[in-house]
Amino acid sequence: MKGRMMVSQLPDHAAFALQRFRELTGKIKHYEEILAVVFWDMRTGAPRKGIGLRSEAYGDLAAESFRLSVSDEMGELLDKLSQHDVLPLLSRVDRRQVEEVRKDYERNRKLPPDLYREYMVLVSQSEAAWEEAKEKSDFPGFLPYLEKIIDYNRRFIEIWGVKETPYDTLLDLYEPDMHVKDLDRLFGELKSRLVPLLEAVQRDGERPDTSFLKGSFDVAAQKAFSLYILKELGYDFEAGRLDESVHPFMTGLNPGDVRITTRYLEDDVLSALFGTIHECGHALYEQNLGEELYGTLLCTGTSLGIHESQSRLWENLVGRSRPFWQRYFPELKKHFPGKFDHVTAEDFYRAVNVAEPSLIRIEADELTYNLHIMIRYEIEKMLFNEGLAARDLPEVWNAKYTEVLGVTPKNDAEGVLQDVHWSGGSFGYFPSYSLGNMYGAQMMAKAREEMPDLDEHIAAGRFASLKEWLTERVYKYGKSLRPAEIILNVTGEPLDSSYLCDYLERKFRDVYRLG
Ligand code: ZN
Repeated sequence: MKGRMMVSQLPDHAAFALQRFRELTGKIKHYEEILAVVFWDMRTGAPRKGIGLRSEAYGDLAAESFRLSVSDEMGELLDKLSQHDVLPLLSRVDRRQVEEVRKDYERNRKLPPDLYREYMVLVSQSEAAWEEAKEKSDFPGFLPYLEKIIDYNRRFIEIWGVKETPYDTLLDLYEPDMHVKDLDRLFGELKSRLVPLLEAVQRDGERPDTSFLKGSFDVAAQKAFSLYILKELGYDFEAGRLDESVHPFMTGLNPGDVRITTRYLEDDVLSALFGTIHECGHALYEQNLGEELYGTLLCTGTSLGIHESQSRLWENLVGRSRPFWQRYFPELKKHFPGKFDHVTAEDFYRAVNVAEPSLIRIEADELTYNLHIMIRYEIEKMLFNEGLAARDLPEVWNAKYTEVLGVTPKNDAEGVLQDVHWSGGSFGYFPSYSLGNMYGAQMMAKAREEMPDLDEHIAAGRFASLKEWLTERVYKYGKSLRPAEIILNVTGEPLDSSYLCDYLERKFRDVYRLG
């Protein structure tokens, strides 16, 4: 807690301001922790009849936390602490916290409260409307909501101010400092290498046999295997727990209580397993945040993209690797007696790495996933930078799927209506999934360079070296470093898509025996 002692070197007025600022941000952090436990509870078995009233309690506490963050007092404290003769005297953590809180404060203060309230009501109605529309594949039924949500976001961009392009302003909400000009380049590179790779795999590759993945897999055994793998990976059960929910998620209440969920499907042995490893990756990040961040608003992942890099690194680069299945396939066989008698670890490794063009993003494999994201990125950019009308979305969506993946949705449920994000107003969110894949591959390349025997560690079930490596370079910093600083610190280079492309080419040419 070295940084905390610097208060005494500050002029009195600034020392008081810093103390009060820490109290206020500490209180907001505490509210966030309570909100997180309520959120977790509502999604892991809270009685249905209580949800309505509970939502109101949740809303009140969330509003209180928001009120504190945009209060006049917060504004005054930020002004005092941002003075040019004060800010440089603060510890690294205090300074970063002032900068972060100031950014949110300015953004939120600009929004007229009535406009924000109208928007929140619209979004909550819209999610229900989307669910119904998706069920009936009824895009016209959802269109009025979508049009309004897009209009509101266009107004927010005007209010917040255009950064380079209008869509940049939305990107900044999810991945600070990431711009359209960067994403155009990154996605362009992914497209130019992954589309030909997918074509080669489809045309000349030897498709792995997946027949043994069909059938029924005892849910109790799936649960036992998920718990076993979590322990092996180094998930700390004294600082977390595994539960079930319809959509798997991780929620970090504080570094000593990081909970994850999964979903067991009887006819799919892979869904819960890889879902669990994915959430475990998010959890390892949050369980290993640095002590100097405890109680501050920096005690969390630095961005969606960096968070996703960790879930995907553990799920795909570790969990779908050959050494991993050399070690764990015999264990899997023990958990499911009679299911994999004539299957080898190599067969299983290849089967969990089938790559095929498909319509549904959340079911997509490691190779095609980025193409699903690229399509959404291009469409969002058209909406906010080129004035694409919401009513034209199905046509544009279907044309892009046909062009990029060679598959065409039969209806809007398996097309433009498939994702929840837009119904909740999350525009600019999708790119973080692919950014996560790119950050993760680049970090893993560096880890391999520094630990040449990493594969042997994985094949022996020893994950501590990788976890410690990531803790020292990524996890312990939480939000006290920006995403661009993290990737530069870890790898010595800015984000570069070639690491992901190299990795995917190597892996899928091998899995499909393309020589
Ligand atoms: Zn995730």
